[in-house]
Amino acid sequence: MKIYNLAGYSIILSYIAAAVYFAPAHLGPWMGLLIGGVYFVFCWFVAGLYLADVLHLGIAHRSLDYKEWFMKFVTVVNNVFGLYVGPIAWVNRHRLHHKNADHAGDPNKLADDGCWRTFYLCVMPYQCIDNMAVDEILRSRTFRVVEHPVFAIVAQAFSFYLFWKLVGNLKFVLAMWIGIRIFAQWVNMVQNYWTHTRTFGYCRYHDDDDNAMNIGEWLPVTATFSACFQNNHHHYPRLLRLSHDESEYDFGFMTVKVMKYLGLVKATTTGEQVPKDLPLAALDF
Ligand SMILES: [Zn+2]
Repeated sequence: MKIYNLAGYSIILSYIAAAVYFAPAHLGPWMGLLIGGVYFVFCWFVAGLYLADVLHLGIAHRSLDYKEWFMKFVTVVNNVFGLYVGPIAWVNRHRLHHKNADHAGDPNKLADDGCWRTFYLCVMPYQCIDNMAVDEILRSRTFRVVEHPVFAIVAQAFSFYLFWKLVGNLKFVLAMWIGIRIFAQWVNMVQNYWTHTRTFGYCRYHDDDDNAMNIGEWLPVTATFSACFQNNHHHYPRLLRLSHDESEYDFGFMTVKVMKYLGLVKATTTGEQVPKDLPLAALDF
């Protein structure tokens, strides 16, 4: 088993064990497992919608055109009840990452940064050398408020308190709260380290001046909402899907298609432009 899969499954199993072990006596282990599971799935799913679907393809690359109210709704829900990630800083870091991928100016990682260095950088990225996040939506009041550090602290403290009061046991809530954040750090490592180091994954486009690779197994693809097809994505960053072949399982794209069906999103002109050498016969969107 690949090291990133081993790490991912180990974290999930440890989370399950912690949910059972720390389950409060008045609820019992099965109820503890159910609550822990719902919290895990909720945080993962909303973070995927927020980061991979809305911030990444909707705002940073403008491949998808979402309803404005929906982008704001997902942003608020994720950052209050789920895992906080400042939207403006993220979009700026991501654009700088594409502009300078694996070179000086990439806030996520330089070519020579190893596993533990990148692990640290996931939490404390390199200083951004430029401001590439001046979009109108990012200047809206909702986004500016959510970006503020006071909002981050108050919102996260509020949802933690709410979770604690609902369950009625501090140790259990703390274990789940920390557990999902360890999982999130693993997801971050899949994107910033394992798919940006040539030793892992596979490469479809060999002539690019970066270390972006594709990882296509079920767990990393599902966990990252497909943001682990980095070699595909860095080669054609404006395309609205990250899988470039029918054989590549693409969970993120499935969620986008459901949102399209619900009338929440449509393709932008650049997002639906299919490059000539793409192995896909049709975009299927
Ligand atoms: Zn990108």
